[in-house]
Amino acid sequence: MRLLLVEDEKRMAQALCEILRLENYEVDHFTDGTNGLMAAISNIYDIIILDVMLPEINGFEIAKSVRQKGIRTPILMLTAKAELDDKVTGLDSGADDYLTKPFMTKELLARLRALSRRALNTMDNVLSYGDITLDTSTLILSCITNNQSVRLSEKEYHILEYLIANKGQILTREQLAVKIWGLESEAEYNNVEVYMSFTRKKLSFVEARTEIKAVRGVGYELRCDNV
Ligand code: CA
Repeated sequence: MRLLLVEDEKRMAQALCEILRLENYEVDHFTDGTNGLMAAISNIYDIIILDVMLPEINGFEIAKSVRQKGIRTPILMLTAKAELDDKVTGLDSGADDYLTKPFMTKELLARLRALSRRALNTMDNVLSYGDITLDTSTLILSCITNNQSVRLSEKEYHILEYLIANKGQILTREQLAVKIWGLESEAEYNNVEVYMSFTRKKLSFVEARTEIKAVRGVGYELRCDNV
């Protein structure tokens, strides 16, 4: 799970990053609204955590822009103010959940687990698209029409999970590289192509009709035209 945290209070943010990384979330952190907004609309995150009061652009405005771009990533708002007004504005802006500071770590983690289940729209930990299913705990890819299955490597799994979560959309190589390898990684676009070809081989191994189509000069899209 790749998580975006936009929070300007340095100590708070540092503590949160540490806790979240211990829980195996990959976290990118920004301290101002401008960079936070740019990261949020890159559509490479599974969950976005926004502080409300931020320099330049506030959390509510970021949430609004994310939704205006058609990005459905779950958003958790953090705020120091307990007023009901904030709560209403937060939900209006497109935020999915709301946590008042100070909060318990346990509470935050529970909310994140609930949001990540919602993010993947999972039923019994199985993602599905076209004629394939993907088990989110065993990483097993299956074709439902012939019952063939194969286990994916972690990277192959993340690629397919990301494509399924964004079905109907073309994902660029840049989005895939950052999503799978991270902002600071030196993964080159070659890596994306290499793992994309591994993932395609797994799809043809199970004889799925679902395909990863390359859109020339743009990126990749999951398609299942013939079911
Ligand atoms: Ca703040």
